[in-house]
Amino acid sequence: MFDTLGHKLQDILAKVGGQDKLSEDQVKATMREIRMALLEADVNFSVAKDFVASVSEQLVGQKVGGVSGELDAGQTIIKLVHDELVNMLGADKAEPTLQAGRNVWFMVGLQGAGKTTSTGKLAHLYKKQGKKILLVAADTQRPAARDQLEILARQVGVPVLKVEDGEAPATTKARIDAQLADKPADLVIVDTAGRLQVDAALMNELAALKNELEPTETMLVVDAMTGQEALNVAQNFDERVRVTGLIMTKLDGDARGGAALSARSVTGRPIYFAGVSEKITGLEPFYPDRIAGRILG
Ligand code: GDP
Repeated sequence: MFDTLGHKLQDILAKVGGQDKLSEDQVKATMREIRMALLEADVNFSVAKDFVASVSEQLVGQKVGGVSGELDAGQTIIKLVHDELVNMLGADKAEPTLQAGRNVWFMVGLQGAGKTTSTGKLAHLYKKQGKKILLVAADTQRPAARDQLEILARQVGVPVLKVEDGEAPATTKARIDAQLADKPADLVIVDTAGRLQVDAALMNELAALKNELEPTETMLVVDAMTGQEALNVAQNFDERVRVTGLIMTKLDGDARGGAALSARSVTGRPIYFAGVSEKITGLEPFYPDRIAGRILG
């Protein structure tokens, strides 16, 4: 693992490298640098602070002075940081629940985050696994968003139900039920409306639709490039529509991945998937160790 460390951490290691023992001041200075590295990777300030506090606590417990095994003090710190990052990002692989009977997945997020694309990708993934899918284009204000999902649905080869402008949630529910009675599906994935910013009207609309459809999963789609803003977005959506899992998109870009740590730590919800391209096949399980490495980069 140490071979893959980026310059920043190589530098930090070099400063304390080779020593068996670190003074308290050295530990503090190292922790300051690690906090800086996290901030540079776009981790939210308070998340970075809590993270460093937690690692520092463990260090005190481990008494860096008495490092065990073959690692010196600097390496011990880096290993702790790496392990804690993996731990916080969710060491266990988590998948959304897919139960026998009714499954309704609600896709939420800001406009441009990759909600519609991810909805298409999920349809592709689960269709391949033999599931019958119904997509719902539920943006009651933007016909273009509904058309975009329709194009993806056609590409994947699954049916899509489009709401009308201004359609009431109860009507949408009735239309979905009617469609399912005619053509049953294992999984209904609802692509909801997004806005460029979190606003009260959007949240009210989502909450109303959520009450009506009673989704079994509510996935927040977060653009990994949003950096610091990811924490506020995740917090706001979670407060209003209680998120059950996250999808981090655009991880193929040059985002350092701090947004994943922020969104995950503020909601405490698992990151189910990573978006890694614009293509319909560009959805992967989320691998915490890869992102930990990137954040430390
Ligand atoms: P929505 O407004 O949240 O529904 O966002 P869209 O699904 O329309 O996506 C916005 C833009 O991001 C589109 O150009 C997508 O092709 C692109 N996009 C979505 N997910 C990914 C991803 O994982 N990687 C890359 N490179 N682009 C993505």
